[in-house]
Amino acid sequence: MDRVSRQVRSQIMASVRTAGGGPERKMEALLRGRGIRGFKKQWPVAGKPDFAWPKLKVALFVDGCYWHGCPRCDRPSKSNRAFWKPKIISNRRRDLRVARKLRSEGWKVLRVWECRVGEETALSRIVRATQSRGVRERRRVAEPWRDTGSP
Ligand SMILES: [Zn+2]
Repeated sequence: MDRVSRQVRSQIMASVRTAGGGPERKMEALLRGRGIRGFKKQWPVAGKPDFAWPKLKVALFVDGCYWHGCPRCDRPSKSNRAFWKPKIISNRRRDLRVARKLRSEGWKVLRVWECRVGEETALSRIVRATQSRGVRERRRVAEPWRDTGSP
């Protein structure tokens, strides 16, 4: 009845799961809830960060635990594992490359595991990064924006 092989099927399922699904949406809701604004999604720089504050040069990646090899959630089934492991390894290598490239371009790179999206420590790291960079940014742009007519 099913002409798609199991392997292909699981690939399809996986790509569906990783295409901008749950964790990113949850993160977005949390950011908004905290009043953190000014982020863009899938910003076109190295690695296409899930969230980016282009002016502040803060990039935030929400990493799927399975695909990026989360140490806490390292529990794929044995049969899948042999098949997917190379993919996970190459993802991790790419993550490192991307982070290096962004840092060399002056970005602050944050990564949050999917399983930690709701955790306070993750959120406060983001708050700190955007605030500390935001202060600098405001100082730089404050003058040109000031209405010279007002007291
Ligand atoms: Zn995890």
